[in-house]
Amino acid sequence: MTSSVIKENVPMLLMGIVLPFYIAAKMESGNYDLLSFPTNWTPKLDLYVSVVYIAWLLGQWILYMLDVGDVIPGPVLRQGKRLNYRLNGFFALVVNIIVFLFATLCGFRVAVIFEKITELVTIACLIQFLISFILLCTQKTENLPIYNINPVGNRGNILEDWLVGRSISPRLGFLDLKFVFARTGMIALAFFNFSVMAKYYEDNKTTNYTLLLAIGMALVYTADNLYHESFIVYIREMSREGCGITLLVYVIGIPIEYGLVVSYVATTKHELPLYCLLLIAVIFLLGYWTYRSSNNEKSHYRANPDDPIFKKYETITTASDKHLLVSGWWGMSRHPNYLGDIVMHVAMSFAAGFTNFLPHLNATLITSMLLHRERMDCDECKDKYGEDWEKYCHRVKWRVIPYIY
Ligand code: NDP
Repeated sequence: MTSSVIKENVPMLLMGIVLPFYIAAKMESGNYDLLSFPTNWTPKLDLYVSVVYIAWLLGQWILYMLDVGDVIPGPVLRQGKRLNYRLNGFFALVVNIIVFLFATLCGFRVAVIFEKITELVTIACLIQFLISFILLCTQKTENLPIYNINPVGNRGNILEDWLVGRSISPRLGFLDLKFVFARTGMIALAFFNFSVMAKYYEDNKTTNYTLLLAIGMALVYTADNLYHESFIVYIREMSREGCGITLLVYVIGIPIEYGLVVSYVATTKHELPLYCLLLIAVIFLLGYWTYRSSNNEKSHYRANPDDPIFKKYETITTASDKHLLVSGWWGMSRHPNYLGDIVMHVAMSFAAGFTNFLPHLNATLITSMLLHRERMDCDECKDKYGEDWEKYCHRVKWRVIPYIY
């Protein structure tokens, strides 16, 4: 009988592979009509592209290992263990941008990243498969420390272990594979967007304000995520989920799915009037403000609940002696940070206008993923806090969007 792990993960894995190739084929053909199926969406292996990609990936691993940035302990795992993580994602982004600018000044055609997108997806996919097989062959359940054992895998089924991973945090010394892959996805997005801009300039010898706004918004999102990289250490994928092929292929989708709007705007030469651009920028900034302030409020409270700024805040004391905020952002809805995230992505997709659905795919996927995530987090908090969580939900009725949902 097929296990629930296989039933849940095989469709996610297929989607994680098919979607990037499908989007890459759409980008290559320049036809963003959702209903016209691309004919050229087979993987393409290119030796030159593969070598450059592997060198770049190794470069990201080296940047992580450099003694730059704070080292922080992650969440408490089983056996009371805490793993350390180095926070230098923003530094890595800046170094990457400098290298990119330098390459451009030296005459390297950076537009090639956009032109060779299928080749890049192919090699990225192969690398993730290779890593997943290496992990499967080298990690044995009996040799893993208890805190690192993925409770979902490790039941003697090799397919399950390949899909969800045997260990939670596979490491090469200090290098945490999942943590570094999360940031390389974001840095790759910045590279991809700059490459689209270079291609647009090459072809049109001018720029496009809609394109600049779309790239600017994506860059703010990337830079913010890397600047506040510590949040990644605490997300469920880092501390509670295993590192199998399903999670590894997810990273491939980040630059390509998040880059859809920018590539659409550039390819179709889509331009919006100035008042629309201003409106989109305002919506994006409102989303960003909600996202950043609510995340900061919670992490500040968790780190220092006795800070005098929280004197006026109402809280619910739980049996575990942890407190839940019921005023401020966390009194408006149970996940104001997800609301901000959704608003930012919706604003980004508005830059593509409304003649085509495909550029809105990422905002749609992220919205449904965050709404689903909210339900999962709510169930986990119910298990953690029991009746106190029910009290909290009674006080804070709205899940994500105040007065609507
Ligand atoms: P959250 O940052 O929302 O954390 C949820 C946890 O916060 C709960 O489990 C609980 O943990 C604590 N908490 C909940 N309510 C309260 C309260 N009222 N007072 C104090 N603490 C509370 O979850 P995520 O890790 O999922 O997300 C982090 C960020 O990452 C979000 O901004 C999200 O938008 C973003 N994200 C984005 C993704 C994307 O693809 N765009 C994917 C994943 C995340 P405890 O009680 O144990 O402290």
